[in-house]
Amino acid sequence: MSYKKSVKLFNDAKKVIPGGVNSPVRAFKSVGGNPIFALKAKGAYVYDEDGNKYIDFISSWGPMILGHAHPKIISEINRVAKNGTSYGMPTLLETKLAKLAISMAPNIDKIRFVNSGTEACMSAIRLARGFTKKNKIIKFSGCYHGHSDSFLIDAGSGAVTFGEPNSPGVTPSTANDTIVSPYNDFESLKKIFENNTGEIAAVIIEPIAGNMGCILPKNDFLFKLRKICSENETLLIFDEVMTGFRLAKGGAQERLGVNADIITYGKVIGGGLPVGAFASRNEIMNELSPDGKIYQAGTLSGNPLAMIAGLTTLNILNENPEIYKSLDSKTEYLKKGMISILKKTKIPFTINSFGSMISLHFCKNPVVDFKSAMKGDNQHFKNYFHGMLKEGIYLPPSPFESYFLNDSLSFDDIEYTLSSLEKIIEKI
Ligand SMILES: *Cc1c(COP(=O)(O)O)cnc(C)c1O
Repeated sequence: MSYKKSVKLFNDAKKVIPGGVNSPVRAFKSVGGNPIFALKAKGAYVYDEDGNKYIDFISSWGPMILGHAHPKIISEINRVAKNGTSYGMPTLLETKLAKLAISMAPNIDKIRFVNSGTEACMSAIRLARGFTKKNKIIKFSGCYHGHSDSFLIDAGSGAVTFGEPNSPGVTPSTANDTIVSPYNDFESLKKIFENNTGEIAAVIIEPIAGNMGCILPKNDFLFKLRKICSENETLLIFDEVMTGFRLAKGGAQERLGVNADIITYGKVIGGGLPVGAFASRNEIMNELSPDGKIYQAGTLSGNPLAMIAGLTTLNILNENPEIYKSLDSKTEYLKKGMISILKKTKIPFTINSFGSMISLHFCKNPVVDFKSAMKGDNQHFKNYFHGMLKEGIYLPPSPFESYFLNDSLSFDDIEYTLSSLEKIIEKI
């Protein structure tokens, strides 16, 4: 495989775009090597500028749940674009997507569209603070909620104290209001509530974590979390930017049987165009401007092209719920195959999966939180990633990211992926 054009394009890009990319993970920093420049994609495959073809396990980090360039979605975007691309006025498409999303997801009365998952989480926090009239929030170590200041916080020295900025540019006073708890650790969470009585506006969590690899909540962790939030008049925010409309029509809320107070969406809900959303019951959403005093806005929010891409995607999922079962069984097939290949070696590994999300950590210990995810062997991961890339398999270029399977992926593609793993295994 030649990467000549990608190398040249990356060097060019670096002159005018910081690090040559518009989102850091694309730069291949954790695996080394030159990022692949995409030219086009169709179904389960991505084609790069050098003419190489890859089976894609990222699906644009989640949105392309039906596969790339789905004919119906492309034709609908084209149809709508002919009428204009943005009006700064309300359109029928926004109401249609809102109605459909509300009918698919449990426990929400109203939804507000924004342009990214970051915006959705940022706005959800403001809404929670405005509604509860409290200031502090709790997040979990290793969970990602976009790049707004309140979330770029690490745990402080004691797990129960306030957090510390994990990026220059985030002020200590912002960090003061975010408390970081380990994932799956209810005792720490309880202590935080005890030490901050009456001050916690919201707890935000990825109900299935996907930003430290795929990590599942322990047995009753989410139920206990739900209970302690209710007892403290703290709002529970499920960040379903990754899981929403991916794990089921009703996302993680439906799959896990836990109701949140505010739910954030992104990725699948935009069908490959920039969309985020946050949703809740009337009592809370009515506090949002222009009805209420809590301000939130967006020039391109509810953009017609973005709305039609999301609407077409959700319609297909809504009318063909067997897609979810099929995605689950493909993921299960991949997992079983990977396990049987890796078991024959001395390589330590843990594979976590849920629905169409799956990740491989090169460590023996169970991966249940950020600390245990950190124990993975990075050299093994690099060898694995580049070995698979050479075989034409595009995996997330970081051990802390989940794979996202899409509906276009066939069992033959998975068979090929497994035979590639078998082929490169001794090089790991
Ligand atoms: C991707 C992601 C975000 C951020 O969404 P952007 O559209 O990248 O801003 C937030 N939360 C979770 C769980 C995500 O996976």
